Amino acid sequence: MGGKWYGLRARRGRKGGPGRGSGETHAPVPFKPLPARRLLVHGCWLLALAATACRGLPPGVPHPEHLPLGPAAWRAEGERLPARAAPDPLLAGWTRVDDLHYVAPEDADAYAQGLVRVGADLVPRAQPLPTETPVEGGHVLRTDHVLLRTNVSYELALDVAREAELHVQRVFEAWGEALDIRFPADAVVVLLMATREEFAMHLAHRVAEPVGWGAFYDATTGIVNVCAEPAPRGALPWTADLRHEMTHQLLDLSRPPRRRGQAFGAPWFWLWEGIAVHAEQLGDTGPRPTNVARYGRFRRRLYMGQWAPLRDLVAREARDFEGRHYDQTASWMSVLLTADDPARTARVLQAVRDLLAGRSPGTVEAVVGRSLEAEEAAWLETWRSRFGRRRPR
Ligand SMILES: [Zn+2]
Repeated sequence: MGGKWYGLRARRGRKGGPGRGSGETHAPVPFKPLPARRLLVHGCWLLALAATACRGLPPGVPHPEHLPLGPAAWRAEGERLPARAAPDPLLAGWTRVDDLHYVAPEDADAYAQGLVRVGADLVPRAQPLPTETPVEGGHVLRTDHVLLRTNVSYELALDVAREAELHVQRVFEAWGEALDIRFPADAVVVLLMATREEFAMHLAHRVAEPVGWGAFYDATTGIVNVCAEPAPRGALPWTADLRHEMTHQLLDLSRPPRRRGQAFGAPWFWLWEGIAVHAEQLGDTGPRPTNVARYGRFRRRLYMGQWAPLRDLVAREARDFEGRHYDQTASWMSVLLTADDPARTARVLQAVRDLLAGRSPGTVEAVVGRSLEAEEAAWLETWRSRFGRRRPR
């Protein structure tokens, strides 16, 4: 494989200032080469799945819960978001259940009676999995576009699968045309681990240094990895983490393989993260955004004068982008993408589109339509008028 590969995910627990210890940085972290043992684990599962696949599937029809060895295949043309990603569960004769996911024909009756398949067994869906069950050995839920493998409770698995599937639809609805993205040929994979202990072990296989992330998108496998147990400090809800990482995943897998896994370089890293941070709110209906904690942290920083001038923010590369920069970017993006200036919103999205296509978007000034100093003054004024000038709690 060669070269450097990057995980794009929050590193938590940075020191200092308001929200102490609650920061994060998506610093580029060199990935280890995939160890042979890891390949073996996946290999074993493929063999197990192949054995399952032999039951009742027409010859040549791939198993809808097949765990791919590499990132989902790129599609250069066709519908942006097909009704169902391959391997198509309907083609395999599977039944749609819970208005969400699919079960094999031989399991459909049992499912209707409250039994779910775990490996070779059918077990009551309310029955907790044995504590030692690894993420690859627990529940498998295949929705129209997502393959979720997890060892959390079945009820939580259903919630996460529903959110993941909805997020795919929301991203394409909101930005499919504007960003010129296309869902890959295969379902995208999400691994949801029950405990931080397992998540840390999982990460240790892939990342060269210990990190306290809540989730990450691994560009080498195309998989989003999420931990259901929140980080001890500064965690966002899993919904925000899932939406953020799946946005990276959907955008990255929408690029030809030769450009995948490339974190955007300066001066555009803020925008690559900005679109993902903004996506943490996609689907929110209540008055409080899912990632409202970012706004609270940024307000405290702003009040104390600990924020980065935009000229500094937009010049930061991945390795210099810390948690507070994500929070600040969330504030700025909320103005860039939702303020009443459709032409400007279109220019911001065009810049993301250019980056995805490997083109230069020009200057940040041209994208936002004024000097960075003027933009900064206007953004902070909007923000203060929205949230007040008094000392935040
Ligand atoms: Zn990110």
